[in-house]
Amino acid sequence: MTQSTAMIINGKEIADTLLTDIASSVKTLNRAPALAVILVGHDPASEVYVGNKIKACARVGITSIEHKLPDNASADDVTSLITRLNNDSAIDGILLQLPLPKHLNGDALVQTISPAKDVDGLNILNAGKLMAGDKTGFVPCTPQGALRLIKTVEQNLSGLNAVVIGRSLLFGKPMAQLLLAENCTVTMAHSRTRDLPALCRTADIVVAAVGQPEMVRGDWIKQGAIVIDVGINRITTPDGKQKLVGDVATIEASANARAITPVPGGVGPMTIACLMANTLVAYQQSGQ
Ligand code: NDP
Repeated sequence: MTQSTAMIINGKEIADTLLTDIASSVKTLNRAPALAVILVGHDPASEVYVGNKIKACARVGITSIEHKLPDNASADDVTSLITRLNNDSAIDGILLQLPLPKHLNGDALVQTISPAKDVDGLNILNAGKLMAGDKTGFVPCTPQGALRLIKTVEQNLSGLNAVVIGRSLLFGKPMAQLLLAENCTVTMAHSRTRDLPALCRTADIVVAAVGQPEMVRGDWIKQGAIVIDVGINRITTPDGKQKLVGDVATIEASANARAITPVPGGVGPMTIACLMANTLVAYQQSGQ
């Protein structure tokens, strides 16, 4: 039987601490920061995510304003709402919940959000600032949260080998930039990478954001590595039950890893906490 030795990184607890700190900071402000959340259509997962974000706002004292647009909203409808919110000085952050209905181009519409209010960090100006090492930009919430988790295990990442599996704009690319800024030697892996298991075995830090249930096996993990599992995959177990699993085979990987994030309760809670952190920063940078 596989013996678990890894420390489990409790993302929920770490996110709770961050939310408590944000709530304390918000109490000292002249007015509550305000986050506008745009939901187009009725994607059930998106409705749950938006609900959780609104709950988190209430918890830390951020005002949330939800804008629901119908499934058949046009690109012009979304753009004119975003333009109105960009010009509204009472709004600090704007979040366009993705994915959008198929007829809309989410990547393009996100670019219409003012970079100063782009609390998801998806605007190319913010992506460019991250790449240039300019700390005034917004860092996307999930990689920001993942880095915060890694740093609860190891403060100084300088010289460590990191493998990031997945190269999306939302996660893999900004994650690699963050680790590079911490002086890691970063390798970005993707679907065309050759011999991924061997590559992972060289890594002191493995970050998996693939969307493939339990793809990363225990024998891919070097003894003492830190493993961050970003994946959220809903699977049906042999007894017909629904279960959430990550991209890493957690029990197997725990035998070799020094520390590992669980799914659920690892990276997920940090994403929302970092959204709150970014909204607070948006307020602070607005100079109000
Ligand atoms: P994308 O689908 O945009 O990207 C997936 C990446 O994985 C791509 O770069 C793809 O490579 C790579 N990939 C796919 N199959 C393989 C494979 N067999 N071997 C190596 N690489 C592979 O996904 P996201 O980045 O948006 O999300 C990834 C996962 O993280 C999902 O499970 C998602 O649900 C989860 N997620 C969780 C969040 C959270 O809050 N916890 C937030 C965001 C995402 P290629 O580019 O070559 O196609």
